[in-house]
Amino acid sequence: MEKVIIIRYAEIHLKGKNRGYFERVFGVNLEKALKGLRHELRRTSGRYLVTAFREEDAEELCARIARVFGVHSYSVGVRVPNDLESIAAAAMSVSPQSGTFKVDTHRADKRYPMTSPELNAEVGARLLASFPALKVDVRAPQHTVFLDIREDGSALVFGMFCEGAGGMPVGTSSKGLLLISGGIDSPVAGYMMAKRGMEVKYLHFHSYPYTNEQARDKVIVLARILSRYTGGDTVATVKVTHIQEEIHKKCAAELNVTLLRRFMFRIAERVAARQGAKCLITGESLGQVASQTMEGITSSNAVVRLPVLRPLIGFDKEEIVARAKKIGTYETSVLPYEDCCTVFLPEFPAIKPKLSYIEEEEKKLDVEALVAEALGTMEEFPLR
Ligand code: ATP
Ligand code: MG
Repeated sequence: MEKVIIIRYAEIHLKGKNRGYFERVFGVNLEKALKGLRHELRRTSGRYLVTAFREEDAEELCARIARVFGVHSYSVGVRVPNDLESIAAAAMSVSPQSGTFKVDTHRADKRYPMTSPELNAEVGARLLASFPALKVDVRAPQHTVFLDIREDGSALVFGMFCEGAGGMPVGTSSKGLLLISGGIDSPVAGYMMAKRGMEVKYLHFHSYPYTNEQARDKVIVLARILSRYTGGDTVATVKVTHIQEEIHKKCAAELNVTLLRRFMFRIAERVAARQGAKCLITGESLGQVASQTMEGITSSNAVVRLPVLRPLIGFDKEEIVARAKKIGTYETSVLPYEDCCTVFLPEFPAIKPKLSYIEEEEKKLDVEALVAEALGTMEEFPLR
């Protein structure tokens, strides 16, 4: 009896001709996730099987599998030869000993001498005989023992389906650059795009010495947590202090945030080009704060050619918080820190500034020189 983890994949099967490509990327991502733990991974029609692992690693292996996008569900079970005796013994090993249950058989091998109902009945009867406290309930059982008769002469026997992360394998939907702050929203935005198969790179703006190293380290920690789902191995940082000082000195105070965002987007577009990213990603949600109005979005989109993806645009704060808790970024996000957006924050930021007014104010600055200067401060920090 060989211990196995059975991994079923999600939307990949919908991809027709690209299926081979999706499966390859998925396999590579699984291997990356399981790296460092002894195991063997192989594909058998429509599933991946993890075998040859140490019993004590099973929990960690499952935790890692649960984070890989494209995993629909997974189960811990055993793999045995497909004769009835071996299957019954395997069922015994995964079966509960009391409560209600049923046996549920799936036959990939349609030539198997017993039908699914026959197997359900026979194995069910043997379990009942061995565990007197068990009762059959085919409608709403507390437990199900699953038998999966494979085409290669083996049977997989397991007791539970655990939910995977869903989505598509990271790397199958292009590459995006996440503008990551230390807040709650942007990490969730990166997660959402990775879930749709996008490889995510990270860019953070700081205003040292107004913001300190702790603020930066916090972002690195966030990106490290995120990278377990999204891939990516560095965070790029760019210093925008001089830009903020210039805006503060020369432009209408109510436009501070609006103008800073336009600089952020311009810089991000150049960083994206360097990294081969095809879009920018932000954690904006419509109406959440003064700068996240349609006017704010229009003003920042106006300075870039790349599409800007805002996967949280229709989310309420509670929904974002719930997601952040699930991903594991929330506890870090709520630690106190100074974000560059809160430096020089005007008392009354403009909520619906006209683009013509913004552009007029911006003419007081040497935009190109400031962008080039900021790019010169770019640093990269490893996540591992
Ligand atoms: P978050 O929780 O992600 O910080 P927020 O609700 O605080 O979002 P804003 O401060 O208006 O909203 O920022 C909107 C978006 O702009 C962020 O989600 C993020 O994508 C980007 N952003 C803001 N500050 C920074 C920063 N210092 N570095 C990189 N990106 C930033
Ligand atoms: Mg923020």
